[in-house]
Amino acid sequence: MSKSNSDKIYDVAIVGTGPGGSSAAFYLSKLGRSVVILDKEKLPRRKICGDAISQIAQKHLTEMGVLQEILAEKKGHWAEIGGLISPKRITYIDNSAEEIGSHLMISIKREIMDYKMTLAAKKEGAELVDEYNVKEVKFSEKHQLWTIIPHDEKQKKLKAKVLIAADGAVSKIARSLGIITSPPQAVCSSVYIKAGTHQYKEDGVCLYTQDILPGYTALFKEADGDLVFCCYIIPGGRYKTSDLQHVHQSFLSGEPYLSKALGPKAKIEPMNSAPLRLGGVKKSYSNQLLIVGDAAGMIDPLTGEGIQYAMDAGEIAANILDEGFNKNDLSEKFLKKYQKEWMKSFGRDFKWSTRMVKVIAKKPIFIDAFAQLCNDRGPSYMIMWAKIMTGSQSKLSFFKPKLALPLLLTAIKLSLKKK
Ligand SMILES: Cc1cc2nc3c(=O)[nH]c(=O)nc-3n(C[C@H](O)[C@H](O)[C@H](O)COP(=O)(O)OP(=O)(O)OC[C@H]3O[C@@H](n4cnc5c(N)ncnc54)[C@H](O)[C@@H]3O)c2cc1C
Repeated sequence: MSKSNSDKIYDVAIVGTGPGGSSAAFYLSKLGRSVVILDKEKLPRRKICGDAISQIAQKHLTEMGVLQEILAEKKGHWAEIGGLISPKRITYIDNSAEEIGSHLMISIKREIMDYKMTLAAKKEGAELVDEYNVKEVKFSEKHQLWTIIPHDEKQKKLKAKVLIAADGAVSKIARSLGIITSPPQAVCSSVYIKAGTHQYKEDGVCLYTQDILPGYTALFKEADGDLVFCCYIIPGGRYKTSDLQHVHQSFLSGEPYLSKALGPKAKIEPMNSAPLRLGGVKKSYSNQLLIVGDAAGMIDPLTGEGIQYAMDAGEIAANILDEGFNKNDLSEKFLKKYQKEWMKSFGRDFKWSTRMVKVIAKKPIFIDAFAQLCNDRGPSYMIMWAKIMTGSQSKLSFFKPKLALPLLLTAIKLSLKKK
C-alpha cells in the first residue's frame, strides 16, 4: 500500500481508480491541483469487463501516454476482423479496419489499462493509496472540508476540499449521501477463455440473438490470445437480470457460432458479473462533490459500454473543478455546470439509445436489415454502425436519410420475404 499524508488538506480526494477516477486524477494533477486517489483493492486489480476500448477512450489513453505504452508492450489487440450476427442469423463479418485504414476498437485487459492510467495520474503528481476501503465520508459545513474515513481503523482519515465519487455502479458513497437513489437497471457477465484452447478466428463479433434482445452477447480477442465473452441483459426483453447465469451458460454451451468459435477443448473460466447503471443520473453534483463514471450511470443503454464516458466525465470534472478553484466557488450552484457539460457531451445521446433499445426490443428486424445492408453494400455500412454504436457519432445519425432510408427499405423487403 502506498502511504498518504494525513495532515495534508488535498484539493480533491477521489474514491476509485477505474477509468473515471484515474482520468479525473490525471487531468486535475496536470492542472496543478493536489489530488489523492484511493482504491479499496490492492492494485493492479481485476475488473469484470468486455475490455473493448473505443476510439474516444483511446484518445484519453493517448493523452495520458498509456496507449503508447500498451502498444509498445504488445498488451492491446486491435479489432480488425469482426461484425455482427442478427436475430435471423444474417451474418456480416469483415475486415473494416482495412477499409478505413484505422481501428475503431482495441481490446485491453482492464487489470493492465486501469493500473497504467492510475500510474499516469501518479506521474502527474496525484498521491495514490490502494487497499484503502472508504467506509464513510463526512462534510463539515464549518470547515468546508470532506473527511474520508477508512474501514481499517489503523489507516488515517484524509481531508479534502472536494470529493469525487468514482466508485463504480453500486457507488456506496453516492448512495450514502443520498445523491443516487435508484438501483442499477442492467447486468452483464464476463468470462475469459484461455489462449490456445479455442478456435476463434475473428477479433470481435456481437451476437444479437432473438432471445437476448434488446441486449446482446459479444466475443472479443485479447492481446495474449485469451478471449473475453460477455452477455448483456437489459430489461425490456424476454429475460430478467436474474436470468443472467442461465442465459450466459446456455449461450456458451449451445449457440452455434460460439460453439464453433470455442471448439471442444475451450478452457472457460467461471462466470463473473456486475450490475450496470444506465443512461446517466439526473443529478451528479452537490456542494464540493462530483459523481463520475458508472457511479453516475454514465453507461450507454444500447451497448452497455461506459469506459469512454467515465474518462470524458473525468476530464470534464477536472476542468470544471479547476475553474471553481480559480473562482473560489465550489458550490452546488456552480458545479451544476458539470452536469450540463457531460449531458451536452454524451448524456443527451443516452436518451436516443434508450429509444433505440425500445425499437430493437419491439422490431428486431432492424438489426436483420442492418446485417443485410452490410452484406449488400459492403463495409462502409458496418463502419457507420460501429461509429454510432461506439459513440464516435451521435445515435441520431441512425435517423439520417443516408442510413435510415436503406435500413427501412431493407427491413420492409425482409418482412415481405417472411410473408
Ligand atoms: C461485464 C461487463 C462488461 C463491460 N464491458 C465493457 C466494454 O467492453 N467496454 C466499455 O466501454 N465498458 C464496458 N463495461 C462498463 C465499464 O466496465 C464501466 O463503464 C467502467 O468500468 C466505469 O469506470 P468507473 O471508473 O466509473 O468505475 P469502475 O471501473 O467500476 O471503478 C470503480 C473503482 O472504485 C473502487 N471502489 C469502490 N468502492 C470503493 C470504496 N468504498 N473505497 C475505495 N475504493 C472503492 C473499486 O475497487 C474500483 O476500482 C462493462 C461492464 C461490465 C460489468
